[in-house]
Amino acid sequence: MKAVRFYKNHKEFFIENVEKPTIRNPDEVLVQVKACGICGSDLHLLHGFIKPAFSPIIPGHESSGIIAEVGKNVKKVKPGDHVVISAGISCGKCFFCKNHRENLCEEVGVLGFHCNGAMAEYICVEERNVFKISSHIPFSEAAILADAVSTPFYAIKKIGNFQKDQKIAVLGCGGLGIHAIKIARALEASEIYAFDISDTSLQNARNVGANHTFLSYSIREIVKSLHKKIYFHLILDFTGIYDFVEPMLRLLFSGGKYIIVGLSKGQLQIRIPSIITFRSLSICGSYGIDSETFQELIDFYNIGKISLNESISGQFPLDKINDCVRELENRKNSIIRFILTP
Ligand SMILES: [Zn+2]
Ligand SMILES: [Zn+2]
Repeated sequence: MKAVRFYKNHKEFFIENVEKPTIRNPDEVLVQVKACGICGSDLHLLHGFIKPAFSPIIPGHESSGIIAEVGKNVKKVKPGDHVVISAGISCGKCFFCKNHRENLCEEVGVLGFHCNGAMAEYICVEERNVFKISSHIPFSEAAILADAVSTPFYAIKKIGNFQKDQKIAVLGCGGLGIHAIKIARALEASEIYAFDISDTSLQNARNVGANHTFLSYSIREIVKSLHKKIYFHLILDFTGIYDFVEPMLRLLFSGGKYIIVGLSKGQLQIRIPSIITFRSLSICGSYGIDSETFQELIDFYNIGKISLNESISGQFPLDKINDCVRELENRKNSIIRFILTP
């Protein structure tokens, strides 16, 4: 079958013919991949920031498709069912997996980084990693539910424990930040402030419901632009730049949460201001999504709470991946998600 492969220390992806995967244990399903999003973290592979478990590896963790075959223990899905494949791969046996918190699994891995991913015609995963969707959902939109939408959904709903009428700040309006804004809008946030270093990303942010947008290259500019004592209930940081944490903490209401979602190369060094105690503030990380919240997201999408049509910036065959990467890297056009259609 045709697949995209990444070789360590190479600055581009390769399109190769590889062996089609087969079901190796009775809990597995074989999925014919119909759509796979290109995420910012796939670009991190090329830049050496994310190290794959082995090389060459098939990347791709935002995917959807059709069940082609099932192992003999599989009950949840059958051949022909349309599914979205979760980005995180869990063990199914540890304390966290048994308590529906698979994203905290002791052995959690990500498709395409820890095992072969979905930028291929077929993929084999265990049954618990697929979620059935109705057949009228476009595969491209289903694919981005797996990360670009689910990661901010979990951060806002589960980690942030979001309540209607809260005021939200979103730092970084790329693929994940944009969906954080959409979700916050759908959940009836009172006001959404968006920050980015790109005008086109801020245009996207306004299009999906941000009330106030700020072009900010540095934390000093952000704080300056907020000199009017604006406070937030939740600050969602997708930038991976830890310099924002300490000064932005001061912009949280009592009980507020600063949620770090963006992956960072740096280390968080912070002098914790005493307001953290007397305002009961929290600094939290948020990673992936658990199965219950993921099902909640699929239901949320199914009832039309969030539309993803305009999140799909283009659909391309596998062999166009390097062209897509180049376009994503120059950030000139307002791209939210490119989808590969194996
Ligand atoms: Zn991703
Ligand atoms: Zn586990």
